[in-house]
Amino acid sequence: DGDSQADGIDDWMVTVDEYDKILQSVYDRGYVLVDINDVWSESTDANGQPVMIRNTLYIPEGKKPLIFSYDDVNYYDYMLKDGFTYKLILGEDGLLWSYGLDPQGNEVISQDLDAVTILDKFVREHPDFSPFGAKGSLSLTGYQGILGYRTNTDTKVWNDELEANRLKECEAVKPIIAELKRTGWTFGSHTWGHINLSSSSLERVKADTKRWMDEVGSLVGPTPILYYPHGARPDGDDVQSTGPIFKYLQEQGFRVFASVGISSYSKIKTDICAVICDRLHPDGTTLRGSDKVIGWYSQFYDARDIIDLDVRPNRGVKWTPKSAS
Ligand SMILES: [Zn+2]
Repeated sequence: DGDSQADGIDDWMVTVDEYDKILQSVYDRGYVLVDINDVWSESTDANGQPVMIRNTLYIPEGKKPLIFSYDDVNYYDYMLKDGFTYKLILGEDGLLWSYGLDPQGNEVISQDLDAVTILDKFVREHPDFSPFGAKGSLSLTGYQGILGYRTNTDTKVWNDELEANRLKECEAVKPIIAELKRTGWTFGSHTWGHINLSSSSLERVKADTKRWMDEVGSLVGPTPILYYPHGARPDGDDVQSTGPIFKYLQEQGFRVFASVGISSYSKIKTDICAVICDRLHPDGTTLRGSDKVIGWYSQFYDARDIIDLDVRPNRGVKWTPKSAS
C-alpha cells in the first residue's frame, strides 16, 4: 500500500505464492527436511575439551538435506495491518491454523496463508519431504511476544492488569508451542530485542539474553541455536576470533551461531565449543537480484520462475530474462 513499511516488506518477505512455488521446487529437486539440531553434536577432543562435531546424516538415497529457518516468527504489530496473519491457533481438529483479519475486518482462519501451516500442509501431502518428521526452526525475538501472543513485559509503566493479561497470553501460547514441537518444529533465539550484536555492548547483550531466557526460553525451552539479528556478527568477526560477547553467549548454552550469507557455509570453531554458519535468504532482495545473486539459489529454484511480479511493487529486477529458447 506504499506506506513506510512497504519497501521493507517487499525486500525481506516472500508472498504466499512464491513460498508455495519454492516448496514445490525444492521438493521436486530431491531435497528433504532435516532438523538443524541433528547436524552437529557436542563431543570432546583429544585433550578432553568440549568441541562440536558434524554428524553423519543418513537420509534416503538420492535425497539432499535441507534446513528451513524462519526469522521473527512473532507476528509483530506493524505487520498486522499489512496483510500478514495475526497468530497461530489450534483448530477443533487439533491442527494448527492461522488467525487474522482481512482489510474489511472479517476473521480469516486458514492453513494457506501462513508459512508454518503451509509447510505443515505440504508435508501432510508429501510425507517423503520430511522423512524424519522435521519441519523448520522458528527464530524468535521477545519484545512483542511470540507466535502472535503478547507474552512480553514492556518498558511502559507496568501494572497488575497488564501483568494478568500477559500471563493469560503465556497460558494461551503453551498449547501452540507443544503442538509445534510435537509436529517437528524447533525454536532458536533471535535475541529479545532484535539487537545488533556487532554494535551492542557486552552489558546490553547480557541484559537482553537474560530477558530472552525469562520471557521466551521459559516458554519454548532451552535452545542451542542463536540467529544473529540483521545477520550481524558479534565482536567484529566471529570467524577469525572469539570475543567476549561470543564467549558469553556460548556460556549461556548457545552452540550454533547462524548469520546470513551466500552459501551453506559452516565452520566448527576450534577454540570454543561452537559452530558458526550462514543461511541463504529467499526474499524480495534475492528474487530480484542479479544473475550472480539468483545463481546462489539455482540449486533450489530459479528465481525467475518464483517471483510474483504481478503482486510486488514495480521496482524492477536485476536478472537477465530467460531466453525464448
Ligand atoms: Zn530478524
